[in-house]
Amino acid sequence: MYLPQEIIRKKRDGEILTTDEVNFFIRGVTDNSVSEGQIAAFAMAIFFNEMTMPERIALTCAMRDSGMVLDWSHMDFGGPVVDKHSTGGVGDVTSLMLGPMVAACGGYVPMISGRGLGHTGGTLDKLESIPGYSITPDNKRFGQVVKEAGVAIIGQTGNLAPADKRVYATRDITATVDNISLITASILSKKLAAGLDSLVMDVKVGSGAFMPTYAASEELARSIVAVANGAGTKTTAILTDMNQVLASSAGNAVEVREAVRFLTGEYRNPRLLEVTMASCAEMLVLGQLAKDTDEARSKLQAVLDNGAAAERFGKMVSGLGGPADFVENYNSYLDTAEIVKPVYATTKGVVSAMDTRAIGMAVVAMGGGRRVATDSIDYAVGFDRFIRLGETTDSSKPLAVIHARSEEQWQLAAEALQNAIQVGERPYTVTPDVYCRIRRDDV
Ligand code: URA
Repeated sequence: MYLPQEIIRKKRDGEILTTDEVNFFIRGVTDNSVSEGQIAAFAMAIFFNEMTMPERIALTCAMRDSGMVLDWSHMDFGGPVVDKHSTGGVGDVTSLMLGPMVAACGGYVPMISGRGLGHTGGTLDKLESIPGYSITPDNKRFGQVVKEAGVAIIGQTGNLAPADKRVYATRDITATVDNISLITASILSKKLAAGLDSLVMDVKVGSGAFMPTYAASEELARSIVAVANGAGTKTTAILTDMNQVLASSAGNAVEVREAVRFLTGEYRNPRLLEVTMASCAEMLVLGQLAKDTDEARSKLQAVLDNGAAAERFGKMVSGLGGPADFVENYNSYLDTAEIVKPVYATTKGVVSAMDTRAIGMAVVAMGGGRRVATDSIDYAVGFDRFIRLGETTDSSKPLAVIHARSEEQWQLAAEALQNAIQVGERPYTVTPDVYCRIRRDDV
């Protein structure tokens, strides 16, 4: 018999909790016998004392098992159930291409995604710019679309990891979000409740990343790889660059447009291609759909080139209620803003740095993201044709093209971009698109 206050005291004093103690506490979180004050104290004790890897595994599994855990075994997919999660970025539209590409190579991707958070865009918000696309199908439809298209990207279904919902809400108001043990358990409890065989975690690094430094991003990646594998899901992490907007666009409909053009081969931004390929290749290797990343990359390039990935995307969209000819006629379905006009730098020179977080906030300020959870989204606004670090601005090379609803909105967005993008004589240091990969054997 345990008492929540004794478990909190133990953690407060730097002791190590047993799996039974963690299970007891999280059961209390789920059935409301543990109070918000006790959750706050528990989170603060972890904040100051961290958790060992076995404690993190116990916390992750307890939160994962606090609600429904999906089981795909009855579906006879005939291939591995694989997924990717990212810590979030700006212009990170990777999931929309990655799911169909992996599906076309034999994987099954039941992706449960989130909405935009702070300055980062949300996959669900992007997909909702497609008329008719349902992010809340019932479980039967979800399973059917995964079986037929190999991929379905939807929102939280039913009751996945309800303990995390309560713990996160308390962390959010008690300055305990930024802790590696708690972030690891929070992200993984939701992801692992989707019944995955394997997972690739894309941890962002740089001015638009959730984690403040390279060292913190790497520490989170290592923690996630150790804990997810410890919890029984084969997991690899990659560290990727968020010192600039990942795609050529940032917003909702503008990013969906870029995703379709990527899949059909109309235009593939090289950075976006590299980061997408890196995640997909790890997914194929973990799912034993390729013997190594070289073989994985050639399979992935083939399904891009032969149209199989684009076809999977079209099947997913129509399976979830969107137009059957979306891939062919995306421009006639996606909303467009009234004013589509380039913004130029105030001086000529080399782009040496981007405040990617500020660029994300500029999208939010235009209505392309939420300031509070109840805000509605304007899908049409945002940026495209983004300049890259190291490129030279002049009168023929804008910083970006702004999609705005009014001249006034265009002006505010233009000023935000001019302030967020540094142009000067300073030499520019090239940063890699993908910094490193962390596999189970590396931790
Ligand atoms: N995202 C989550 O889901 N949980 C965290 O704790 C932080 C980011």
